[in-house]
Amino acid sequence: MRGLKFLGNSKIEMSELPDPKLGKGDILVRVKASAICGSEVETYVPPGGVPWGGNPGHEVMGLVEDPNGSTRFHKGDRVGVATVQGCGECFWCRQGKQDFCKKAFVLRNAHSEYVVGKECWMQPVPDDIDDGLAVLISGDGLGVPYGTTIRSGLTAGDTTCIFGTGPVGGAMVIMQTFLGARVIAIDINPLALERATKWGAWKTINPKETKDVKGAILELTNGLGPDKSYEACGNQEMFNLAMEVTIPGGTVMTVGHGTHGIDSVRERLSFHSDPAKGEFWGRNLCVRGNLACHFSDYTDQLAMIRNGLPIRSLITARYPIEQFEEAYRRFMGGQEGKVILTQ
Ligand SMILES: [Zn+2]
Ligand SMILES: [Zn+2]
Repeated sequence: MRGLKFLGNSKIEMSELPDPKLGKGDILVRVKASAICGSEVETYVPPGGVPWGGNPGHEVMGLVEDPNGSTRFHKGDRVGVATVQGCGECFWCRQGKQDFCKKAFVLRNAHSEYVVGKECWMQPVPDDIDDGLAVLISGDGLGVPYGTTIRSGLTAGDTTCIFGTGPVGGAMVIMQTFLGARVIAIDINPLALERATKWGAWKTINPKETKDVKGAILELTNGLGPDKSYEACGNQEMFNLAMEVTIPGGTVMTVGHGTHGIDSVRERLSFHSDPAKGEFWGRNLCVRGNLACHFSDYTDQLAMIRNGLPIRSLITARYPIEQFEEAYRRFMGGQEGKVILTQ
């Protein structure tokens, strides 16, 4: 089959990839739309290409090509394929929390003619959901921002701070504004902040232009700090700042890919006589992670869209897959929100 091949050094080519093989319970899907994810930068930029060949695409929808004996899906059905797939049988999978499955794996090669997924991790796409939206709610495009926002315990009237407003942070701007929060967007890319404003952010801060970011956040929050903070940039400095500035009793969510962690701020984890230094103890902070979303989140996301969540605006460009060079150049250059490749 035809598909994108990541060569490393920010190079991609259209190539022949091995045809996907169908196992028991698998369904073959002809890809109609796939989204470029911010996590692809990890395989796009470094030299040496992708060890497993092909591409790291994992947000995808399409038409059933071979139902492979399925009684639930038929040839031609529009389906969304979940990004994270599990064994389908364990304690977690049976609850629709396949991302907790010990055998969970992430879909690959979605920027190709075909993908294979397990029948149990596919969702039928209703007619009122276009291909782009179907990609967002089937994979982690909307799923990650949804999971992160919901599991932070966001309530209407909260003031939130989002550190990094790429596609994940950007979708959180849209979702949290929709849910009644006042959002402060923080990013070093002026274009990302412009988009965040369009998506509903209350205020924006660019750390490249603002010397005292912490002071600026406190000034906007009556000196108290945001109720919830969301690290969506994979940057240690911003993660530290999120923990420092969030209101006592508040929540910090960490979702960005990176080498940042709480180990490097060990003293914040332990008792410290100075409450400003013992963040977790002295200020009752809750720090919580979020990698993916649950398969069971799909219906709630669908309901949110039908209730008016304006998430379509997250998609700022759609390119036929043949124009992958332009698509990746603009996405990796921070010039776009979510980018969809169509076939
Ligand atoms: Zn992704
Ligand atoms: Zn499982």
